[in-house]
Amino acid sequence: MKVAVVEGDGIGKEVVSAALKVLDALSLDIEEVPVEIGYGKWKRTGKAITEDDFDIFESCDCIFFGAITTPPDPDYKSVLVRIRQKFDLYANIRPIKGMGVGENIDFTIVRENTEGMYSGVEQVFPDAVHSTRVITRRGSERIAEYACSLARGKRLTIVHKANILKSCRLFRDVCIGVADRHKILWEDMLVDAVAHRLVLDPERFELIVTTNLFGDILSDMAAALIGGLGLCASANIGEDYALFEPVHGSAPDIAGKGLANPVAAILSLAMMLKWFGRVEESDAVHDAVSRVLAGGITTPDLGGRYSTAEVAEAVAAAIEKEQAT
Ligand code: ATP
Repeated sequence: MKVAVVEGDGIGKEVVSAALKVLDALSLDIEEVPVEIGYGKWKRTGKAITEDDFDIFESCDCIFFGAITTPPDPDYKSVLVRIRQKFDLYANIRPIKGMGVGENIDFTIVRENTEGMYSGVEQVFPDAVHSTRVITRRGSERIAEYACSLARGKRLTIVHKANILKSCRLFRDVCIGVADRHKILWEDMLVDAVAHRLVLDPERFELIVTTNLFGDILSDMAAALIGGLGLCASANIGEDYALFEPVHGSAPDIAGKGLANPVAAILSLAMMLKWFGRVEESDAVHDAVSRVLAGGITTPDLGGRYSTAEVAEAVAAAIEKEQAT
């Protein structure tokens, strides 16, 4: 297994090096290939990512990604969006599971990752800008298929705004068709109603499938229900390639201070291991994180006094201890 490792900017560097400590503890045969992209590189070279970087990505099985700061350039096109498009990483998976805060919350958001409001189809006029929301049958089918593959007895909530948007009617109808075909228990709900219910009764949700922008917003909101962005992992999945990253960004306000919570990055690593088929090791990482958090070894965002590196070392030690028994 060969993984391209992008530390990126800000706290990306700290949380990736923390997660790699945890990976070391598992003693797996994984080759790590460091790749520098992002704001730091843009400042040095004028480019945030190059064709050579894409070549390295192609030579690897997947990407493990920290976070990058958006360069202050009006013509800048998001590096992450470019990577998602290049490798057609159509499914963005964000598990929301309470570990301490929101203990009974446990659902997954499956967000369409390549079209919708982020399709990149925009027309700029002198006094108006049109951003086109592209929803296709194929895009909706494959994200619905992916969501159904995760269902395993869970109820699927199909989230849309079909009372207003025709594009959402297509999305909803395709999702219902796929869910019916797989005999998955489903409900459909308007995105505004979901936002409301997420605040009042988040435990009711089990599995959500939705379009790009709605998924982006709902997942940050959901992160707040379980203690913040420092705990939320994500995977961007394509047919034969994937990128794993914490949901949070580069958080320049706390960068370089050892304050960043590494759990989101560590759980993203666990998602990567599962994708590689190393389910046992993935579960071991989850269990170790749960034990460490339950033992009060947390960064300041969760009320603790431990540094990024100390939390990662505790998780690595918990894995090693479990392996030794
Ligand atoms: P970017 O511009 O890269 O998106 P940002 O600061 O605007 O960065 P986030 O990085 O997502 O956005 O973070 C928002 C806030 O949440 C940060 O300012 C930080 O205080 C907090 N935060 C994010 N990630 C973590 C983390 N891993 N540990 C602790 N706090 C975090």
